[in-house]
Amino acid sequence: MNPVERLKNDLFGLGLKDAAGALDQVLDSAAKAKLPYADFLADLLARELTVRRERYLKARTRLAHLPFQKRLEDFDFSYQPSLDEGQIQELATLNFAGQAQNVILLGPPGVGKTHIAVALGLKGVENGMGVYFVTAQALIEDLRQAHAENRLERRLRVYLAPKILIVDEVGYLPFDTLGATMLFQLVSARYERGSVILTSNKGFAQWGEVFPDPIIATAILDRLLHHSHVINIRGDSYRLKDKRRAGYITSPFGQKDRTAAQ
Ligand code: ADP
Ligand code: MG
Repeated sequence: MNPVERLKNDLFGLGLKDAAGALDQVLDSAAKAKLPYADFLADLLARELTVRRERYLKARTRLAHLPFQKRLEDFDFSYQPSLDEGQIQELATLNFAGQAQNVILLGPPGVGKTHIAVALGLKGVENGMGVYFVTAQALIEDLRQAHAENRLERRLRVYLAPKILIVDEVGYLPFDTLGATMLFQLVSARYERGSVILTSNKGFAQWGEVFPDPIIATAILDRLLHHSHVINIRGDSYRLKDKRRAGYITSPFGQKDRTAAQ
């Protein structure tokens, strides 16, 4: 076996598959550029590390259960003037997650609440944080089933472990007493320990309608809001952007609004 083949074998044996695969090419370019030994080795290991990091990020992104992958770079802030871009960029530093603070995104449908939540989640993943995305409805259904099967405590851990838990679409459907109690239990357990990014189409004043009684609504809000960043988006739905441009819509509920039929 010549030295290159032996090296390839050894790299493979050590689990450095991508370095083994890139060896011929890296050797070749190092020879051509007359690179010092250290540079050659650094190039070779960089191949392995880059591929590993990508694979690791992909696996962790999959674990986060994000509904799509969109970033802040994909967000058109000029379309949403009520939104303070500086505040969102500050959140993107993830200081909030380091301090177990919450982010509450409020606004009507289509204004980008889920987009921003997902973008912050992706940032978290890229920074090695555990992230988990779930809709409020799926969360409650899951916990309800776990409760019925006497394994609520164990199941709750799935939602307690991540540094950032994204609970999307609170308020689309009202909670019953058991659902509200389980949400309260979760929010209390995460309080000052991990961040919740929550989105809702209902303002806090309407949360009384979402929960079966005002006491539990207040108790949940109390813990959520204690260390939190509340972002109210008051603009138009981005989904209607092109239709609005085309002149179908003059005002959100104007006479020319034909979207209801679509
Ligand atoms: P919400 O959760 O508030 O109902 P979404 O975040 O799901 O709204 O946004 C609806 C769609 O429009 C998504 O595909 C999202 O990426 C896109 N979107 C919303 N606002 C913007 C924006 N300002 N710039 C770019 N895309 C946007
Ligand atoms: Mg949404």
